[in-house]
Amino acid sequence: MPVTTTESTPAKFKPYTRQTIALARQWQWMSPELQEATQVVSHVLPFRVNEYVLDQLIDWDRIPDDPIFRLTFPHRDMLPAREYEQLRDLVLHKKDDAAIAKLVHQIRMRMNPHPAGQMTHNVPRVNDAPLKGLQHKYKETVLFFPSSGQTCHAYCTFCFRWPQFVGMDDMKFDARECSELVAYLKTHPDVTDVLITGGDPMIMNTRSLTEFLEPLLAPELAHIQNIRIGTKSVAYWPQRYVSDKDSDDLMRLFERVVKAGKNLAIMGHYNHAVELRQPIAQQAVKRIVGTGATLRMQGPLIRHINEDPKSWAELWTTGVRLGAIPYYMFVERDTGPSEYFSLPLARAHEIFQQAYSMVSGLSRTVRGPSMSAFPGKVVIDGVVTINGEKLFALQFLQARNPEWVRKPFFAKYDSEATWLDHLKPAFGRKKFFFEDEAGEGGHHGPAGRVIPIVQASQNDRRASDSQPSAA
Ligand code: SF4
Repeated sequence: MPVTTTESTPAKFKPYTRQTIALARQWQWMSPELQEATQVVSHVLPFRVNEYVLDQLIDWDRIPDDPIFRLTFPHRDMLPAREYEQLRDLVLHKKDDAAIAKLVHQIRMRMNPHPAGQMTHNVPRVNDAPLKGLQHKYKETVLFFPSSGQTCHAYCTFCFRWPQFVGMDDMKFDARECSELVAYLKTHPDVTDVLITGGDPMIMNTRSLTEFLEPLLAPELAHIQNIRIGTKSVAYWPQRYVSDKDSDDLMRLFERVVKAGKNLAIMGHYNHAVELRQPIAQQAVKRIVGTGATLRMQGPLIRHINEDPKSWAELWTTGVRLGAIPYYMFVERDTGPSEYFSLPLARAHEIFQQAYSMVSGLSRTVRGPSMSAFPGKVVIDGVVTINGEKLFALQFLQARNPEWVRKPFFAKYDSEATWLDHLKPAFGRKKFFFEDEAGEGGHHGPAGRVIPIVQASQNDRRASDSQPSAA
């Protein structure tokens, strides 16, 4: 039986969308302006919230500035004023579906739907066809997008995967089943990590999740050491681990994966300390780590939501007490309504440093602020002055070319810059050291080294007679 929570009967998951949000009792507590913004902006960006977020996480006395309200409810400033007016006119007055669809498409395409080369450089090809449910950017890690995990318990207004949810099918990553992933992994013995991601894979019931996890335990995939699951459910629907009717089955599944010798890493997406103040959210952490899985905490730094270093310090400290591991503070990506949410890199570094200085050594496993940019994950280590020049000190934590990792490099200090692309190399150099290799033609990432499955299996047959496969 599922564990009983602080509630007498286990809560049932109840989502709300643009079409149904007016049925939630909290809708009446929003001003007409806030209601209008939700109705208008949610034509462009995904909107979904659930009863737990509405009842437990949002402080309705503090809207619209409450961080979880900002995290889940669209705001009018997420669109430039002219676009907002145009869309409002079409949605509320003209009600012209074709014109709405046309304008919405234009706005979405302007919003850089697939940042950091996700569509062009990360999708591996087999037999010259793209594997649309996979991304392979870093040598040791493959991302897998199961189609049944491409929604979330609620949607974040800043989400960098927003095209997954808005019907842009040609921009969507998803795989109906696991066979292509398994075939791909068999030919890539260098891969040690699989990240199952979305959307949110934990939206799947335990039976569906089992179908994706169990094939990864096969003896021929012994090189897969770490199975990661990226999820926001720990914050938006912790009931998934505690009181859903198959939550105990889920715990048994986690135990089976661990017993099979894999490290099961739940990559928990948290944005604010309030998400871990709830007893049920704390219970979820304890149940996850009680199975032998690890829970790492990560999330982006976002203007209007979590600019307060104290919130980060509380989040990491509470997480560590419960057995979780602080992992990443990301810089908000250059996609979607990024102008509304982004903070200057200089400010991001200050916030990280202040939060870091408030916690004990056990929380200092966290890295950041880190940009998941085209060439790799770049962390801002600090602001320094060398020969009178004020600079950002940077390094790659992860890179398309493994040789770039942990090589320090410097950029001119720029108080306005919000992303790697805005930075200029220091010391009068024309390019950063990685720029020659990272261009369209010269990228050295794993996707460029993918070989066809047919060729790989021929290699495998030859290899069984002589030497390891070239894959
Ligand atoms: S939970 Fe993750 S994938 Fe889902 S909306 Fe939020 S950021 Fe996007």
